[in-house]
Amino acid sequence: MTVQSDLIARNKLFASGFEHGDMPILPKLRTVLLTCADARVDPAHVLGLDLGEVIVIRNNGGRVTHSVIKEIATLAVLATALTEGREQGFNLILMQHTQCGAQRLANPEVQFMLKNKLGIDVSEYAITDHESDLAGDIARLAAAPEIPDTIIVSAMLYDVSTGAVREISAEKSLGDWRRGEIDDKQLNLESSTQPQRKKRSTAPESPLE
Ligand SMILES: [Zn+2]
Repeated sequence: MTVQSDLIARNKLFASGFEHGDMPILPKLRTVLLTCADARVDPAHVLGLDLGEVIVIRNNGGRVTHSVIKEIATLAVLATALTEGREQGFNLILMQHTQCGAQRLANPEVQFMLKNKLGIDVSEYAITDHESDLAGDIARLAAAPEIPDTIIVSAMLYDVSTGAVREISAEKSLGDWRRGEIDDKQLNLESSTQPQRKKRSTAPESPLE
């Protein structure tokens, strides 16, 4: 039996007595979850998600890349259109995990090899420190003008050895994240006669730029 025929057989069980054919297109929890593609980190299992509750986007590391920004911006426009403007935002949860393969992509030799052999720049996926990389991902979202202020962003970390998730950042609207950054800049301007753009201590310079 091939893997595909096995999966089709499993689906027969799922489809027998199927009662969810009229589900609404908008996810019940009004939430988009971005996480790693790692098979150990399936959010349906880890977070107990039911069918139709959450939109899940997965890539190597669960990182905010250029394509993820485009996906989220598109979803924001669609959500507003589908509700005829009644709903302007949704929750966006970033979930990284321990023992992530994307940590290997932080190795400069691996980055060089992949760039050299395949022409692929994996620096945007690399994970060096979960907390600062999540802060960097939130900073990338805040720096993307196509993503509206109304998106509520939060972050958490899943431990593959214990099965437990812990909060890294509580929910905060992207508008608040952006205003926080402006406040930092204003503070910086007031405290210096030669104003300079404040360098974020927790968010590394974006490798995407
Ligand atoms: Zn991973």
